Amino acid sequence: MDRIYRLKQGMGGRYAVERDGRLCWLEGDVFGDYTPGLEIEPGKSVTLAPVRPSKIMAIGLNYKDHAAEMNKALPAEPLVFMKPASAVIGPDAPIRVPTWAGRVDHEAEMAIVIGRRAWQVKASQAMDYVLGVTCLCDVTARALQVSDVQYTRAKGFDTFAPIGPCIAVGLDPSSLAIEGWVNGDKRQASNTNQLIFPVPELVEFVTRFCTLEPGDIITTGTPSGVGPLTPGDRMMVKVEGVGALSNPCVEG
Ligand code: MG
Repeated sequence: MDRIYRLKQGMGGRYAVERDGRLCWLEGDVFGDYTPGLEIEPGKSVTLAPVRPSKIMAIGLNYKDHAAEMNKALPAEPLVFMKPASAVIGPDAPIRVPTWAGRVDHEAEMAIVIGRRAWQVKASQAMDYVLGVTCLCDVTARALQVSDVQYTRAKGFDTFAPIGPCIAVGLDPSSLAIEGWVNGDKRQASNTNQLIFPVPELVEFVTRFCTLEPGDIITTGTPSGVGPLTPGDRMMVKVEGVGALSNPCVEG
């Protein structure tokens, strides 16, 4: 299985592919045909967010235990909201915690990266449109989520969408361990087999009203154990088969 990284090069990013234990520059189109090129030394370059999505479709209340801890009823159909592209950061980039906004929470999530333009895709065909799996932290200004009528501000601050460290290409998202850690303490632990609405249904639901472009993301919701982040914390999301996404928190 390939793992695709986007590494800093000059002012931009360049894709690399890890295959059979070797990290190589990616030659070709990450969303089309590609092959491993020249081998490169791991750890020499800054790892960026693996994609720059045009949009992030986020699903709320998609684990029963999280709905219960929020004292919310299970939705009859997926509860969807958007996080803006401007919220995206990569591994190790700081999450800016707006201390004026009240409580800010971590939400460890498994996210999928779209590989082909998707419009009105049936669940039975959905996985043909998924390039792979990554980790996402759906950072949430919880107090604003409660006080605002809708989620745009609470979910949309700059730096509130850490993504990475890679795209695990072709990884089956239906049964993956997922964990959220703060300062080395495991706060969230579940498995994507607990999703109320699994990935194929989410792709069908979203593409019924909205075209997903290559690089767009659906983040599938968080299990129970959400809690506050404060400046000085380090947040980590782990998804089985993907790896760990780790970000420090600073005052912002
Ligand atoms: Mg969430």
